[in-house]
Amino acid sequence: MVLILDSSALFSMEDLPAEDIAVPPGVIDELRRYNDRRLDRWGDLLRVSECTKASLDKVRGAALGSGDAGRLSDVDVSVIALAIDLDGIVLTDDFSIQNVCSIMHIEYRPVGMKGIKKVEKWNYRCNGCGKWYKEKQNDCPVCGSSMKACRKR
Ligand SMILES: [Zn+2]
Repeated sequence: MVLILDSSALFSMEDLPAEDIAVPPGVIDELRRYNDRRLDRWGDLLRVSECTKASLDKVRGAALGSGDAGRLSDVDVSVIALAIDLDGIVLTDDFSIQNVCSIMHIEYRPVGMKGIKKVEKWNYRCNGCGKWYKEKQNDCPVCGSSMKACRKR
């Protein structure tokens, strides 16, 4: 199961949940706009996916019907649309997003709810020699290869 995160979810978390995570490009743009440093740490763990136009239209239609349209940004709409395309669960604290999700029978969870496991341990791994590091470094000090953010299980 893949979790679709909106900006409010990302902004309120220090660590990412242990599930697969996808976000629409607009969420990444919002983090960038605030120069959010967590983007450096999380960049490799977030799957950035475009939603389809068909799903966007469906969500817009549902939001119009429920009166949430004015409270949803284009990015919010794309989060819900992506959940349709990927058959994912939306992770959000935004009530309008939650409302449209329930109308459309899309599963959602508030951030920090029981059942959302937060990753305690995740680290960086060298692409070359495979050594683990706590902090991100530009190159592996041992072999000089690039590093990748990985979840340690
Ligand atoms: Zn190395």
